[in-house]
Amino acid sequence: MQKVLITGAAGFLGSHLCDRFIKEGFHVIAMDNLITGDIKNIEHLFKLKQFEFYNHDVTKFVHVPGELDYILHFASPASPIDYLKIPIQTLKVGSLGTHNLLGLAKEKNARILIASTSEVYGDPQVHPQNEEYYGNVNTIGPRGVYDEAKRFQESITMAYHTYHGVETRIVRIFNTYGPRMRLNDGRVVPAFIGQALRGEDLTIFGDGMQTRSFCYVDDQVEGIYKLLLSDYVYPVNIGNPDEVTIKEFAEEIVRLTETDQKVIYKPLPVDDPLQRQPDITKAKEILNWEPKMGRSEGMKLTLEYFKGFSKEELQKSDH
Ligand code: NAD
Ligand code: UDP
Repeated sequence: MQKVLITGAAGFLGSHLCDRFIKEGFHVIAMDNLITGDIKNIEHLFKLKQFEFYNHDVTKFVHVPGELDYILHFASPASPIDYLKIPIQTLKVGSLGTHNLLGLAKEKNARILIASTSEVYGDPQVHPQNEEYYGNVNTIGPRGVYDEAKRFQESITMAYHTYHGVETRIVRIFNTYGPRMRLNDGRVVPAFIGQALRGEDLTIFGDGMQTRSFCYVDDQVEGIYKLLLSDYVYPVNIGNPDEVTIKEFAEEIVRLTETDQKVIYKPLPVDDPLQRQPDITKAKEILNWEPKMGRSEGMKLTLEYFKGFSKEELQKSDH
């Protein structure tokens, strides 16, 4: 049985990856310090003998007994609210954490895939963003702690590949959503759905003309799985190119939740990218991958998940 270590396993994407690798017949070693994740996301796997969980901060030395075939490094705060609350930890998990895991990959002769992000493109001046674009990041702005950690992460990963021959993969993930996002993580999908379900106004930041392109989690996991098993060592964008303005998106959520909530406008966070859409030519050509789930269907599934929360749980999210 092949063994995979997944860091950030109790988080949104990490927990779905655990499910996928278990389904594919892997032995899964899950690691997380629960700083932004929730153990409930993986509790259903605890009964399986091919699943283990380590509560560990990956910025500290990482040791795993025995052989290891693959590592997926997904530990990192991912929502702007989270990484602005814990900026130093964010920088550390992208830098020291990645260094530790690359060291482990080298020691175990394991292939490692690291979770990079569309944020490496910053507030992009090339649209849609292809992998050749170098990006436009304000290093000392508030989002710099995340963006630069991820840019460093890519650099050190390529260096381990070039200088140590470690088998590496880099996925640049564009806004992904679905069940198990944290209700109060501040990202726009749980924020709008939570507000609608609580009967609150939806908070649009700025004038709402900024765009994002939302990818359903199952499509994202499929892309990551294919990239891991491919031979391609350079970064690959995985996301859904269906672009929407945040204003239109808020209107979609109001319709979907069949509420008559109003939208209210709040200041745009500093350095909030004005446009974002993945160019997925590489993913199509190299991985034969493209997203299958449309936004309206994906949002319905996501809404069903959030409807499972009690009134008290919904009220707890008070950002
Ligand atoms: P998440 O916050 O739900 O999950 C991150 C997990 O990492 C959490 O469970 C958290 O407790 C854990 N973690 C953080 N620091 C840690 C540390 N030092 N040691 C051990 N565990 C630690 O976020 P997510 O959306 O699942 O994102 C997962 C990864 O994917 C991140 O690396 C993120 O940067 C990347 N990503 C996600 C998106 C997206 O749209 N979801 C987009 C781009 C990149
Ligand atoms: N956003 C918003 N209202 C909210 C939360 C987010 O208008 O309550 C906006 C945010 O300013 C950004 C977009 O929605 O332009 C996506 O934000 P998110 O935090 O989900 O992801 P990211 O900015 O990292 O793409």
